[in-house]
Amino acid sequence: MATFDLAEHPHRRYNPLNGEWVLVSPHRAKRPWQGQQEEVSKEVRPQYDPSCYLCPTNERANGEHNPDYKSTYAFDNDFAALQPGTPAGTLTKAGLLRAESERGICKVICFSPRHDLTLPDMEASDIRKVVDLWQQEYAQLGALDFINHVQIFENKGQAMGASNPHPHGQIWAQSSIPAGPAKETQQQAAYYTEHQRSLLQDYLELELEEKTRIIYENEHFVVLVPFWAVWPFETMLLPRRHFQHIGQLGEEEKNAFADAIKRLTMAYDRVFNVSFPYSAGIHQRPTDGQEYLGWHLHMHFFPPLLRSATVKKFMVGYEMMGDPQRDITPETSAERLRSLF
Ligand code: ZN
Repeated sequence: MATFDLAEHPHRRYNPLNGEWVLVSPHRAKRPWQGQQEEVSKEVRPQYDPSCYLCPTNERANGEHNPDYKSTYAFDNDFAALQPGTPAGTLTKAGLLRAESERGICKVICFSPRHDLTLPDMEASDIRKVVDLWQQEYAQLGALDFINHVQIFENKGQAMGASNPHPHGQIWAQSSIPAGPAKETQQQAAYYTEHQRSLLQDYLELELEEKTRIIYENEHFVVLVPFWAVWPFETMLLPRRHFQHIGQLGEEEKNAFADAIKRLTMAYDRVFNVSFPYSAGIHQRPTDGQEYLGWHLHMHFFPPLLRSATVKKFMVGYEMMGDPQRDITPETSAERLRSLF
């Protein structure tokens, strides 16, 4: 038998950040890249759309009018999944039927007054204003006594079910810590207890040595394809310094963060010459007042496209029943993304 080779043989990769595994089947994608490169006709959007509920001055579902905002704008979601006034309560039966009331606040964040832009079209200095707003919202929401976790995210593109193309993101802040961040909290805490170092700090050092999965670096941030990436072009943005939450970023770091987001999303748009859909979000320390020394701020990008602007990866079958699976290796994806910067 040949020697085990990550570029050749089916294998599982461990994600130390959440404790889960991904099945990698490189032999299914060994052929050279043959993804379609044709131009996709780009939908031309107006700078202002009178029927868009996110454009400045327009009326929203609840009858309120947006102000004539000039950069970013945040407001409470008119169709919020969580509400601050939910009464406390629990239901339990035989330990099998369990429910707990959940309080929270859902906000919408417009990245720009311009209906026709996306993050990669925006100037880095304007993305920096989005970073400022994230920082401000994390601080304000996190300071509320009933908010213990603040999830900042963006769902971009019809392929991800985004209902409005106006550049915007969301924040869901709530009393409990949701499952994804809870696993990352546990894994990072265990690593910190054992090594007195941040898991992602040590991971980043390894990646900077190996270089094969690094796609972009600036002074304060690194963009890489995680060793355990599930989505074909999944990436992670990591600060070089061990920040636990966005509130700790200074002026320089916020500029570097905005630069990394701009460069990455621009590269994404070049993969299939189409405005690249994704779900992205910032994971950081819960806001329940505990210390969480091991927590290391990072941003995930999970884009669904696989082979072309119209062929996306589905998480079905074995992946719903067993583990996630991928064909092209994270190293191959990293090489391709790096070439597009
Ligand atoms: Zn994470």
